[in-house]
Amino acid sequence: ARKSDENGIVVIGLGRFGCRLAGALTRLGHEVLAIDRDPEKVQRWSSELDRVVQADATEEGVLRQLGVTDFRRVVVAIGASIEASVLTVLALAELDIPQIWARANSEKHAKILSSVGANHVIFPEAEIGERVAHLIVSRMLDFM
Ligand code: ATP
Repeated sequence: ARKSDENGIVVIGLGRFGCRLAGALTRLGHEVLAIDRDPEKVQRWSSELDRVVQADATEEGVLRQLGVTDFRRVVVAIGASIEASVLTVLALAELDIPQIWARANSEKHAKILSSVGANHVIFPEAEIGERVAHLIVSRMLDFM
């Protein structure tokens, strides 16, 4: 594998979370390869992101063909389908991707993701809930 582009990041799943993540990484100057199996999502984001491809990310051979092994970092932003998220992380682990980030819906989902090879597990809804709580409380103090 090339692994020459330290700057590149693959984002899999362009739901509300994944598309924002891919957009923010692009604006931060990273080369983003975005993958979604839904042709409508691919069409919708193709003008805003550099590289958007339609593919089923649970297929290891497909990921290899797309050049995913050239990247050091991959984020699995699939949320609702636990099966798709677990199989995608497994495929990435089999491809020896060094840094696999994955989104979890629950503690049990997180446990499975870690056991199949995710290096970092994130809980977007939980993290935002906590942040908004702090934001509200700090604003309450501001106006006291
Ligand atoms: P969000 O909360 O970010 O909107 P969601 O949980 O509502 O996400 P999901 O069903 O998790 O939505 O899907 C997120 C994206 O992942 C969708 O655009 C979906 O097409 C894509 N996706 C799901 N399975 C796969 C797969 N096997 N390969 C590639 N993309 C996938």
